[in-house]
Amino acid sequence: MVPDASDAARAHTGGAGVGPYATSRAWLDVDLGAIRRNVRRLHRAAGVPIVVMLKADGYGLGAVAVARTLEHAGDHVWAFGVATVQEAAELRAAGVTARLLCCTPLLRDEFEHAHRLGVRPALHRAEDIVAWSRFGAPWHLSIDTGMSRAGVRWDEVEMLHATVAAHPPEGVFTHFHTADDDATRDLQQERFDETVRALRAVLPHERRETLLVHCDNTAAIAARARLGRSSPGQLARPGIGVYGSVAADTLGLEQPVHLRARVIDIRTVQPGETVSYGGTWRASSTRRIATVSAGHGDGYRRGGSESRVAILHGACVPAVGLVTMDMTMLDVTDCACETGDTVTLLGQDGDTLLRTDSVAEGVGLSPYELLVGLRMRLPRLYHDAPSPGT
Ligand SMILES: *Cc1c(COP(=O)(O)O)cnc(C)c1O
Repeated sequence: MVPDASDAARAHTGGAGVGPYATSRAWLDVDLGAIRRNVRRLHRAAGVPIVVMLKADGYGLGAVAVARTLEHAGDHVWAFGVATVQEAAELRAAGVTARLLCCTPLLRDEFEHAHRLGVRPALHRAEDIVAWSRFGAPWHLSIDTGMSRAGVRWDEVEMLHATVAAHPPEGVFTHFHTADDDATRDLQQERFDETVRALRAVLPHERRETLLVHCDNTAAIAARARLGRSSPGQLARPGIGVYGSVAADTLGLEQPVHLRARVIDIRTVQPGETVSYGGTWRASSTRRIATVSAGHGDGYRRGGSESRVAILHGACVPAVGLVTMDMTMLDVTDCACETGDTVTLLGQDGDTLLRTDSVAEGVGLSPYELLVGLRMRLPRLYHDAPSPGT
């Protein structure tokens, strides 16, 4: 279910006032306007229509809400990308009618359901292609050019030529294992280009020109942008960039997600006393400690607790001691802080920004894992703030 933003939430412009859920201990503010603008920036850089990846519940931010805000965004969004039939079913149940591309191999016993949902599957085995062809529905050919995860190996595609000639795909794609590394990306690209050339030659004439070729994820779009190039082929498939990570500096992406939690207790600790499990943090002088209502049970991860900061009233304050399941402690000795105040653990408050990428790096995670982990226990509040500066 998508929590509906209240009027107060809609009026809320991304700062960390008292949360719109007065009863909520911690929540995610998700700025749908920022997501739409990120999609436009990715599209401008790619130079081709894009498949917005919505897998893993929209990278933890809520696939349905993201789909709804983008569904009528215009021609620059060609489709949404999912990883499972269940994800497609959730979008359809919410009334999303856009094209859905499933990039993960399906099992044969999922075909019927996938077809009923209007999913375009990624196929790569002759018997699967023949089985899918009885629906007469579009599908995409998945090529493994070095990721060694899914798809037909680039040097074995020839085995599929007869099948593909009889049942032509709508599209053909590959995926880069290190998209920001020019050398390995170029090698995979060469393999892919060669495969696509040979494939086109065996397709019926009328299908050669309409074939949709795609390969770029966020990091590939950004790497090419740095070289002054756009994406090859007819489509690109950004995911994490839509949610503000990986290519934020290169492409000027906005941070659309903000983790807020409220101060639920405050105490003074004496010199020599410790805070949290293991007693790993010890006060060197009299300190004022605020306890905020989010922890690793909310996906606010425990690693790297020593260097962690939060934002209180627009300024950074240090976190102290280990993050616990439900609570995290801050040293608020040097600032005004009262029970009930709202703290930002990820995202922006005032002029201070804690980007997903830097918070993730601080705890030894990829931004993907951090975002996807934020699904736990946190209600997501959707906002549609106007663009900064407009
Ligand atoms: C997840 C995924 C993407 C998006 O990758 P990002 O790094 O999030 O941009 C694109 N294509 C495929 C096949 C994927 O699995």
